[in-house]
Amino acid sequence: MVQIKTPEQIAKMREAGLVVAAIHAATREAAVPGATTKDIDEVARKVIAENGAKSNFLGYGGFPATICTSVNEVVVHGIPSDEVVLKDGDIISIDAGAIVDGWHGDAAFTAFVGSGHAPELVELSRVTEESMWAGIAAMKQGNRLVDVSKAIETYIRRQPKPGGGKYGIVEDYGGHGIGTEMHMDPHLLNYVDRRRGKGPKLVPGFCLAIEPMVSLGTPKTEVLDDDWTVITTDGTWSSHWEHSVALTEAGPLVLTAPDGGKAKLAEYGVTAAPDPLA
Ligand code: MG
Repeated sequence: MVQIKTPEQIAKMREAGLVVAAIHAATREAAVPGATTKDIDEVARKVIAENGAKSNFLGYGGFPATICTSVNEVVVHGIPSDEVVLKDGDIISIDAGAIVDGWHGDAAFTAFVGSGHAPELVELSRVTEESMWAGIAAMKQGNRLVDVSKAIETYIRRQPKPGGGKYGIVEDYGGHGIGTEMHMDPHLLNYVDRRRGKGPKLVPGFCLAIEPMVSLGTPKTEVLDDDWTVITTDGTWSSHWEHSVALTEAGPLVLTAPDGGKAKLAEYGVTAAPDPLA
């Protein structure tokens, strides 16, 4: 069953989404050479506390931190640690969430640590982020869940990969419904699997966390012995971007983007819904 939200509930999710956006702004600044991933976690913890919000990551299935910090070949679910020191040239996915009055937000971005990154890494992150926006732009009435998956996959497949070969669209993880819990039905694949059918219709009140994960090589992943850290099986580096999105009568509202998705959606010819808190 998909949880359909009222406009009032979407406004609550927007509050949670803006806390996540504030975590992103602060942690982006903190992801510098010499910082540990534990330092960045501490920054996120403070932003949540300052906003009177709660963490949905801390304690989730026993997860020991406030954010996931996934460096280089780590795809998702990296655990912040004193022992992981960021170096010039690394890339890091920072995945963060927050709860306000029982409503959840969840979003991730990939950052470049320091400077001088190879063009294929810059392009990897760009392609992953843009595929997320292509998926968000497909959040419209009349579409079904599969149309979001298809928009993400189609975007990635049309991008030439520097140096040749194909991008790996990670298969074992995907997006999800979000609302009174962080992870809810439906699961959102980042590619089309015809065996799964078209999925539910997208109607006003439908909320999704859309989060493509893309590697420079394989789509296959494995989990390390800490039972959390997900890496690519071939060691190639990967990117991860995510926003929580609500479909409203007036179109998609990107709950975790400061501008509600207005600027990026305009590039796709889509008008973002007005911000209910503005
Ligand atoms: Mg998520």
